[in-house]
Amino acid sequence: MKVIEHINNAKSTLFSFELLPPLKGSTLQTIFDTIDPLMGFNPAYINVTYHREEVVYRPGANGSLIPTVLRRRPGTVGITAAIQHKYKVDVVPHIICGGFTQQETEDALIDLDFLGIHNILVVRGDADKIVGKFEAKAGGHRYAVQLVKQAIAMNKGAYLDECLEKPNPTNFCVGVAGYPEKHAEAPNVTSDLQRLKEKVDAGADYIVTQMFFDNSKFFEFEKHCREIGITVPIIPGIKPISLKEHLSILPRIFNVHLPQELVTDLEKCADNKAAKELGVEWAVAQAKELKEKGVPSIHFYTMGKSDNIVKIARRVY
Ligand code: FAD
Repeated sequence: MKVIEHINNAKSTLFSFELLPPLKGSTLQTIFDTIDPLMGFNPAYINVTYHREEVVYRPGANGSLIPTVLRRRPGTVGITAAIQHKYKVDVVPHIICGGFTQQETEDALIDLDFLGIHNILVVRGDADKIVGKFEAKAGGHRYAVQLVKQAIAMNKGAYLDECLEKPNPTNFCVGVAGYPEKHAEAPNVTSDLQRLKEKVDAGADYIVTQMFFDNSKFFEFEKHCREIGITVPIIPGIKPISLKEHLSILPRIFNVHLPQELVTDLEKCADNKAAKELGVEWAVAQAKELKEKGVPSIHFYTMGKSDNIVKIARRVY
């Protein structure tokens, strides 16, 4: 079933979560071990992220460092199909612009269609950590909106090759990313919201947000979206803090603001065990309020660990 159908049929706030493919060389069992404890909460769908190849430095002769291009977390499509097959739950692979030509994107979408996967979350992909900015592959998309347009065109039977005899229309439900605290590269909130609206106008069915730790940021964002005519469901993304270092990592990487009360409490934590407990309490409070306000679904960022999500889900669902 499509995510939008789950949302439209739901009687109360749905539960969903996101997984990262394991590091190259690991087994699928690591993914199943994360999923197993969460299945009791009836996830409506499970997302699997996509990771572009990146440059890593490996030790060479004479102590030199050799730049090597590799994908550390491959396997999104295979993992998606494996989860859908094993758990009979809908899975949403992320499809990114970065590292793909439009032809390669088309082929990836055909693979998903043939595998019976009809949900995708379309994102641009992260900026290169070394170059410090996003660079599209030659012949690839620069912005997520272009990939949304490609997927929606395929849903109408329009492939890149216009000479196909009877092109099969695909049937993708398309989600896109939204940023309650603005995307880091956007010049201002108004411009970022307009860009988000372009993705929805291009055919996106729903929005999933970046993590946030202050619900008022989400409610304000939702209000602004509605004011500019975005009518699709907006799904809040929640990430429970689990490390003391998140104090500086999360604002730097995800451009999010941590409320002072959370900062003070986190600074008082003696170790990461205490930080994780605090993260659970904070996420429970956030999720309970979001649920009370009737959000369609709460999407949990697991980062590959489910013990804290289990504790949260038990108290919220
Ligand atoms: P876009 O919508 O393309 O926006 C990127 C920036 O460009 C924004 O600042 C926007 O305002 C601006 N912009 C958009 N269109 C235009 C235009 N036409 N002209 C000028 N400016 C424009 N990353 C991964 O690598 N893999 C994943 O699996 C993944 N999953 C994610 C899931 C969620 C729910 C979220 C919130 C993020 C995810 N990311 C993932 C991170 C994401 O790739 C980054 O946040 C990325 O920097 C932006 O992606 P986007 O789809 O929002 O980009």
